[in-house]
Amino acid sequence: MVNDRVVDLTHPLQEDAKVRILTNRDPEALTVYRHSTAHLLAAAVTQLFPSVQCGIGPPTDEGFFYDFVVPRPFVPEDLEAIEKRMKEIAAGDFIYERQMWPRDEAIRFFRERGEPLKVQLIEEKTEGQKDVSVYTIKDRDLFVDFCVGPHVPTSGKLKAFKLLNTSNAYWKGDARNQPMQRVYGTAFFSEKDLQAYLTQVEEAKKRDHRKLGRDLGLFAFHQWAPGATFWLDKGTTLYNLLANYMRGVLFPAGYVEVKTPLIYNKALWERSGHWKHYRKDMFLIESENETMSVKPMNCPGHFLTYASQVHSYRDLPLRFHEQTPLHRNEASGVLSGLVRARQFSQDDAHCFVTPEQIGEEVERLIQLVQRVYGDFGLPFEAKLSTMPDEHMGEASTWDHAEAQLKVALERAGMRYTINAKDGAFYGPKIDFDVTDAIGRKWQCATIQLDYMQPENFDLKYTGADNAEHRPVVIHRAIFGSFERFIAILIEHYAGAFPLWLAPVQAVVLPIADRHVAYAHTVSQRLAEAGFRMQVDERQEKIGYKIREAQLQKIPYMLVVGDREAAEGAVAVRSRSGGDLGSQPLDAFVASACDEVNRKSSQLSAISSQQLEA
Ligand SMILES: [Zn+2]
Ligand SMILES: [Zn+2]
Repeated sequence: MVNDRVVDLTHPLQEDAKVRILTNRDPEALTVYRHSTAHLLAAAVTQLFPSVQCGIGPPTDEGFFYDFVVPRPFVPEDLEAIEKRMKEIAAGDFIYERQMWPRDEAIRFFRERGEPLKVQLIEEKTEGQKDVSVYTIKDRDLFVDFCVGPHVPTSGKLKAFKLLNTSNAYWKGDARNQPMQRVYGTAFFSEKDLQAYLTQVEEAKKRDHRKLGRDLGLFAFHQWAPGATFWLDKGTTLYNLLANYMRGVLFPAGYVEVKTPLIYNKALWERSGHWKHYRKDMFLIESENETMSVKPMNCPGHFLTYASQVHSYRDLPLRFHEQTPLHRNEASGVLSGLVRARQFSQDDAHCFVTPEQIGEEVERLIQLVQRVYGDFGLPFEAKLSTMPDEHMGEASTWDHAEAQLKVALERAGMRYTINAKDGAFYGPKIDFDVTDAIGRKWQCATIQLDYMQPENFDLKYTGADNAEHRPVVIHRAIFGSFERFIAILIEHYAGAFPLWLAPVQAVVLPIADRHVAYAHTVSQRLAEAGFRMQVDERQEKIGYKIREAQLQKIPYMLVVGDREAAEGAVAVRSRSGGDLGSQPLDAFVASACDEVNRKSSQLSAISSQQLEA
C-alpha cells in the first residue's frame, strides 16, 4: 500500500511515500486476491471459449464474479472445465504484468480481438489519458485485460478458489443492454478457509429462515402484501415472547413504553429532514388535500411526545420505548423474507439526557446489550464510529461525546474497533455485530448520539439553574427490528429454539386412546405452570408421532401409557438428548421451569449435530 492506495508489489516508488505491505490478515489483501482470481477466470474462459466477450470482473464481499457474452449459457460441466483450466494456469505461476499502453493502441487491440465492451470501457473510463494500464497473464495464449489493478504478482499465489454458480446478467446491469452470463466464484488464502466458507454456505441453506419459517408454521407471505409478514399462530407466539422479553428487560432499566401515531402530516417530515432526504422510502397518503406519510421510524413522533410536556433536569434521563410498526417503501426486488421487509417493528427507544449524563447512559445501554445477547447465546463485538468530514456542530462537542463513548465502552469491559469518520453527520455512534452459530456476522444493536434533532424540534428542559437547556437524544435499538432478529434467531438455532423461546414447548403423546384423558391432565398441569403445550391425540403409531414432533423441533415429547397414568409420571424424550426415561410429573415440571429460568440453550449440542447431519 503506497500513500493509502493499494498497488502491486512491483509498483515503482518514484518519491518518498508511506508504504505498507499487505499481508493475508488485511481485508484489502483478500479483495486484491479475489479480483486477481476473477482475471484467472477470464483467462480460462477465453482459452476454452475463444468466441466469448469479456465484461467486468470485480471482487465482492463473498468472492468475485465475471460477466461474459457467450453463444450459449454455461452448464455445470463448463464450470468444472473452467475451474480445471484455472487451476492449470495458477499452477503455471505466470506473471501478472502491468503494462502501460498508448490509449489508441489499447483500443485497437481490443477492437481487433472482438471485445467491443472492453473498447467501450476504455473509451468511457480513460477519456483524455495518453496511456492506459492493462494486465497480462502469459499462458498458452496471452490474456490481456484492461484494468487499473492491483493484482497478485503471479498466478501461483492463487491457491484456494472455487466456481460456485452462474446467473443471467446484462451489460452494466441494465435489462435493455446485451444479455450476459455471470460466473460467480470465491477465493480464500487457504484451502482450510475455503472449505470452512463452503460448509457455512451449505449450512446456511439448511437454516434459511424462509424455509424453516414455512416448515415450522411460523409465518407466510403473499404477493399482495410484498415485504409484510403474515405471522401464523406459532410465529405470533414467538414474536410476542420477544416483545415481552424486551419489556421485561427495559422496564426495570427505567424505560417507559409509549404508543405514537403511525401516520403524520408531511410537515413533521419537513421538520425532521426526512422529507428532503428520505421521501422516496416513505409511503405517502392523501387525506383532505393534505399529504401524509406512514412513519418509517419513531424518532420524530417521540420528539413531539417529549415536547408535549414540560421537563425538568430531575426527569432526565427520560427513556421512551415503542414497538409499533414502521413502513419503508423498499423496492420489491430487494425484499428478502424477514431480513429485508417493508413492514417491521423495532425494539426502539429514545433516551433524552443532559450532556453530562451521556457517558453513564451509554454505559447502561452497553450493559443492556451484553445482557440481551447473553440470553440468546450470541457473541458480539462493538464498533465506534467517529466524526465524519461532513458534520454538524463544533469539533469540541464531538471530541467530548466520543471521549464519553470510549470511557463507557471501557467501563463496560467492551473491546471495540474504531470506524474513523463513519458516524452520522449529527453525532457519533456505537454499532454491535453479533456472530451466529455458523459464524456469520449480523449488525443489530446501535447506540447513536444526536445533537441535531433536539435543535430541530426545540426540545428543552429546565436545569438546576432554572434556565432552559437542550437535551441530547440517544437513539438505540438492541434487536434492531423484531422481524430481522427473528430471522437471525431462526438461522442461529436452526429452528430448534431453546425451551424458553419455543412456540410449543412440549407435546404429550398418548400411546393409545385410553391414555388420552391422562394426556390432557398432564398438559393441563404444565399449562398451569406457564408452559405452551400440545396433545397429539391422533390415532397414529407412537413412533410416527415422535418423528413428527422431532421435525417440528419441539423441545420435549412426553409419552404417556398405562404405567405413566398409574404412577402420575411421564416418559420424557428430549429433542436433542433422546430418551430421558420416566419421571414423576412434578419432577419434570420443576426441571423444565428451571431450564426456562436459566434460558439455557442446547445450542452447542444442536449445532454440532446439524453439522454432522
Ligand atoms: Zn484487474
Ligand atoms: Zn431514532
